[in-house]
Amino acid sequence: ASYTRIGQTDEAVQAFLTLNEEGARQAASELDKQLQEGGERGLLFGLPAGIKDNIVTEKLLTTCASQFLRNYDPIYDATVVKKLKAAQSVTIGKLNMDEFAMGGSNENSSFSPVRNPWNTEYVPGGSSGGSAASVAAGQVYFSLGSDTGGSIRQPAAYCGVVGLKPTYGLVSRFGLVAFASSLDQIGPITKNVEDSAYVLQAIAGYDNMDSTSANVEIPDYTSALTGDVKGLRIGVPKEYIGEGIDPKVKEAVLAALKVYESLGATWEEVSLPHTEYAVATYYLLASSEASSNLARFDGVRYGVRADNPDNLIDLYHKSRSQGFGSEVKRRIMLGTYALSSGYYDAYYLKAQKVRTLIKQDFDQVFENYDLIIGPTAPTPAFKLGAQVNDPLTMYLNDIVTIPVSLAGVPAISVPCGFADGLPIGLQIIGKAFDERTVLRAAHAYE
Ligand code: GLN
Repeated sequence: ASYTRIGQTDEAVQAFLTLNEEGARQAASELDKQLQEGGERGLLFGLPAGIKDNIVTEKLLTTCASQFLRNYDPIYDATVVKKLKAAQSVTIGKLNMDEFAMGGSNENSSFSPVRNPWNTEYVPGGSSGGSAASVAAGQVYFSLGSDTGGSIRQPAAYCGVVGLKPTYGLVSRFGLVAFASSLDQIGPITKNVEDSAYVLQAIAGYDNMDSTSANVEIPDYTSALTGDVKGLRIGVPKEYIGEGIDPKVKEAVLAALKVYESLGATWEEVSLPHTEYAVATYYLLASSEASSNLARFDGVRYGVRADNPDNLIDLYHKSRSQGFGSEVKRRIMLGTYALSSGYYDAYYLKAQKVRTLIKQDFDQVFENYDLIIGPTAPTPAFKLGAQVNDPLTMYLNDIVTIPVSLAGVPAISVPCGFADGLPIGLQIIGKAFDERTVLRAAHAYE
């Protein structure tokens, strides 16, 4: 059914880069056989899943939507992919994205942009645009995305589905092609909150292959979905519903808060005073980490190698010039500049300090509140092509997701209405490792 649906819809949506039809059929009949022989059903038994193409899959192309890796055929599975297999879901294929997860509209894919299933003239968001669009188009039951500054939550909001960015460290990054290692997190994109809890249950947990993996006990997420939010204290940052936020988005968020009131929760306006510095801080830190992480793509170890180099330096130069797209080059140049000697203290070190201030904003609010709620993005999806020549406007789309990433705390985006036929997302932010409260509140509202 999944492949039939892809056949009907993917010419218009362009969510998939690689299909795994033979592998999926084999895996499915293997599961069937195990069941016939009296085996138990795994947590995600038989559920068709799509995987973002920056998560490595053994013997299944993993391109990061980059020309550089168009032939990269990994020899191992990422930890999350192993865990999904252990939970018995079936990998349908690999999902389109912004090249190396750099972008917020999917227009930076070097293969083709993804289109929003609600209206194919609009972007699906990014960078996990394929992951969100494939769930919205009914091609898969769930997908995995990655979120560095909003890349799970923002496309989930634009496509009207549920996207969860877990606490940094809860889900292993082993096998996720690194963009900005101190921010990257893998998480589920699903049709509803209950599914999100099930997929999180399957992928969370300590992994000694990831040096930043948190060694914490994994609670039962589905049992948190009680429907009861009585007495829950919600903070609503004035910076998240103020200037620059589309009035229709603000209206939808205020309407959602009314629902919480009716369910017995309370909310008050709060402040995250360093919000205005978050985008600048993020683009310094994320680009710096990217410039370092992407140094491994040298034309020798992974992917495509340029023809006829004059010497080794020329090989690096030609391979990188030909392999990377323009947004990736922009980030590498920004990051290399920020890390260069003489500038390090002024840019990178200062950005690290501001990151701490941003995190402290969250700590302070969480002393008195259980959750922080606001929009996921300042506007609904925009038209394809509308912002491609304006990187700064594009960067500002992440104004309310980036602070959460810098603080490392969990957040979910759930649909909370429509403006002009396009979905709006409500962002529910929790304390570190308190995914249970985030999921409970999201589920009660849904
Ligand atoms: N849109 C942001 C960026 O371009 C976030 C991307 C992400 O979370 N991977 O960096």
